[in-house]
Amino acid sequence: MAAARRQLAALLSITQILVTPLGAQEGTPRVPVRLVLTGVQIGRDTIEEAKAEVFRIYQEAGVEIVWPSAGPAVDSAFLVLVRTDDTAVRLGLPDAAFGMAQSTQEERGRVVFIFWNRVEKLAVKYMDYRVSRGKMLALAISHELGHLLLPPGHSNTGLMKSDFEVREFILASRGRLLFSDRQGQLIRGRLEKPSR
Ligand SMILES: [Zn+2]
Repeated sequence: MAAARRQLAALLSITQILVTPLGAQEGTPRVPVRLVLTGVQIGRDTIEEAKAEVFRIYQEAGVEIVWPSAGPAVDSAFLVLVRTDDTAVRLGLPDAAFGMAQSTQEERGRVVFIFWNRVEKLAVKYMDYRVSRGKMLALAISHELGHLLLPPGHSNTGLMKSDFEVREFILASRGRLLFSDRQGQLIRGRLEKPSR
């Protein structure tokens, strides 16, 4: 019985491996996101780790993030500007804000700001939870982009919570700080009707 169940489990996982890539390509919205660093020094490994993690977080929500390399602006790309928190200070944002999405109640924009010194500080503060700088950057980017793709506001749990605390970092260290199924649906819906 146990052996039969094991066989079935093995068979299922093979089927999933065969089926998933096809399913993922078909109808998966692709979202070009440009990452621009201004006045901050971030190691290449950290950036690559962050990009891979943002990709994974959005993939879990049924969206494919692509990172166009430097060059002519890509149509419909979202822009992630990573810089220091000068803007946050000037605008009087709370100290805990690690980023900002440029959007209003009426219109969701295409630009997010990420305050690298705050992201880095958070990674150091919660070092025990082993959320690397790259992963922390990915959480900040994913959250702020989420504001451009979801209805205004925050959720009580998960990636769109207004501020991250121990519980979120425990989830993040396991790679489980994600959009909810409902948020995934809303994001995909929004990308399928970009004019809204
Ligand atoms: Zn937020």
